[in-house]
Amino acid sequence: MSMLLEVKELSASYGASRVLQGISFGVEEGSITVLLGANGAGKTTTLRALTGMVRTAGSIRLRGKELCGLNTESIAQLGVAHVPDGRGTFLGLTVEENLQLGAYSRKDKPGVTKDIAQVYELFPRLGERRGQQAGTLSGGEQQMLAISRALMMKPTLLLLDEPSFGIAPLIVKEIFELLKQINREQKVSILLVEQNAAMTLAMSNYAYLLEIGRIVISGPSREIRENEAIRKSYLGS
Ligand code: ATP
Repeated sequence: MSMLLEVKELSASYGASRVLQGISFGVEEGSITVLLGANGAGKTTTLRALTGMVRTAGSIRLRGKELCGLNTESIAQLGVAHVPDGRGTFLGLTVEENLQLGAYSRKDKPGVTKDIAQVYELFPRLGERRGQQAGTLSGGEQQMLAISRALMMKPTLLLLDEPSFGIAPLIVKEIFELLKQINREQKVSILLVEQNAAMTLAMSNYAYLLEIGRIVISGPSREIRENEAIRKSYLGS
């Protein structure tokens, strides 16, 4: 398997305060990769760095192309879709309007209509609520909408910031199952950041653990999950 995303010595700062201390990691083509870490470890900042939203140094290569220094719009056009924390849906717009906005840069109208139909097939609850304002949806449905809106860009890499945050465990399980299906069927590679180690290690291929701006552990998710010492020392379980 080849690498889709290769990150080397990435640092990121807010003003004078450096939050990422030169981290290196990768996302294999076709994989689900997870970046785990506690509150304040730098997970959100890592995704912001990948999408050109904070000041960064180092190298971020997508299929060999350097992204460091590009603006957010150009990075999105190269196929990187970002579902931020807080989800980034437009609460005053309907479900369908949000999906159409996700496809704003696409010229193939029939393709967009087909993809919206595909979203409704994957997430029937969004189909039932297509004319409803996004603000009236439950937290889980809003997360599904945010993911769907990102998929409307037809990305090669989907970045997700804590999709389980504030959502009931059963719905999280459903969302993670759907992410696996999207990964498999639509050939979208996924990088997600999470605090929820147990569930994400079970659904991902490869994992990195971030502690205060540094990667301290990495390996196949299954190995990390089965390693009691790592679990006890780093994951508190
Ligand atoms: P959380 O789960 O709480 O979002 P996280 O792992 O995503 O945690 P980040 O949000 O990336 O962590 O934050 C990492 C560090 O950067 C924290 O110390 C935080 O206080 C700091 N930080 C985050 N955003 C800003 C900002 N806009 N300006 C200054 N410092 C920031």
